[in-house]
Amino acid sequence: MNGDPAASPPPPPTSPEDRWEAALVPNYGTPRLLLVRGSGCQVEDAAGRTYVDLLAGIAVNVLGHAHPAVVAAVQKQVARLAHTSNLYANGPSLRLAERLRDLAGGHKTLFLNSGTEANEAALKLCRRHAHATDRAQGVVLAFHGSFHGRTTGALALTGQPHHRTGFDPFPGQVIHVPFNDPGAIEAAFEAHDVVGAFAECIQGEGGVAPMTQEAADTLQKACQGHDALLCIDEVQTGIGRTGRFFAYEHHGLRPDAVTLAKGLGGGMPLGACLVAPRHAGLLGPGSHGCTFGGNAVAAAAGNAVLDVLERDGLIAGAGRLGALLAAELEANSLAWRGRGLLVGVPLDHDGAPKAVQAMEEAGYLVGQAGKRVVRLAPPLTIDGSTLLGAVPALADAVRRAGPLTA
Ligand code: PLP
Repeated sequence: MNGDPAASPPPPPTSPEDRWEAALVPNYGTPRLLLVRGSGCQVEDAAGRTYVDLLAGIAVNVLGHAHPAVVAAVQKQVARLAHTSNLYANGPSLRLAERLRDLAGGHKTLFLNSGTEANEAALKLCRRHAHATDRAQGVVLAFHGSFHGRTTGALALTGQPHHRTGFDPFPGQVIHVPFNDPGAIEAAFEAHDVVGAFAECIQGEGGVAPMTQEAADTLQKACQGHDALLCIDEVQTGIGRTGRFFAYEHHGLRPDAVTLAKGLGGGMPLGACLVAPRHAGLLGPGSHGCTFGGNAVAAAAGNAVLDVLERDGLIAGAGRLGALLAAELEANSLAWRGRGLLVGVPLDHDGAPKAVQAMEEAGYLVGQAGKRVVRLAPPLTIDGSTLLGAVPALADAVRRAGPLTA
């Protein structure tokens, strides 16, 4: 041990904040709350205060907290067989892949643990496609304002400079073009040999910004015309949040690859890259994989999520609740954008962090998407009165966050 043996050691930190700072890398900043339990749309912190959760672990807990179906599925599976590796099949992941195949119209599943890993897999698929078509120098197109994850391949796709600073050079030969600019998409496909393209139907982290139908149509046509794989990132928008299982259904897109995570495991870490059957062979045996991908407990939770979404009609419900929420936001003089239960409230100043804090003080958990957008992504199980009841508090929080004075 280093140091002066005579000096008495500093007292161990006792508050959660101090313990966090003493034990964790500071990449997330220090959280204000330590949450200890949740039930449905409510969570409780270590001081016993309860909050209505309108963020759901950033669009993860689609069935809320401790949903009985998820709890039962996880308990049953962990007691029976938790992990097999991919050297052996397990029932829950096989079943979940079959269900995703049916939902996506035939795509085959590669299971992973997170959104960033799902996008890494889709990026590798694009690179394999480039090689398979003798275009190894081809580029992958992504959009300004996008967010695809934090590992280096996904970060290469991410079109937000502040996430990228200090981590270059990036792999993957990625070019970025302005979001929702059909002319820029066409020009990029003319100027480059584009072998793949990544898009979010609603840029979540990038400010809850929906893709226009014209941009979606242009992208689809350009990908088809140039033999580029269309990869749609549904990590935040998928699993029914926008009122369809996949947000791309609203646009009539036909993606070659779809990436999922967040809501898929209902709170368990689970990601997936769904690949059109004609391209699935690009990732042949040994080409990709991960130890925990398709973990039986996470997949059992995923099956429970799909069961409840179907049984309780929660996907159509997300569309209906989203329309009610939008009307209530307008009635309270708040601007909004998004779809279903992925909603951003844009501010004309950098007050989103303050508004988030004011909501917390009022007993609501909400998020931000950048400094100018308050983000709502509640559980799909939320009831209308709880959801709409939050809007006056939000209007007040936004007022209190006020325009910043110079
Ligand atoms: N893609 C999108 C659209 C996301 O919103 C996120 C996370 O917010 C990711 C990818 C990365 O997912 P993960 O944090 O699970 O790696």
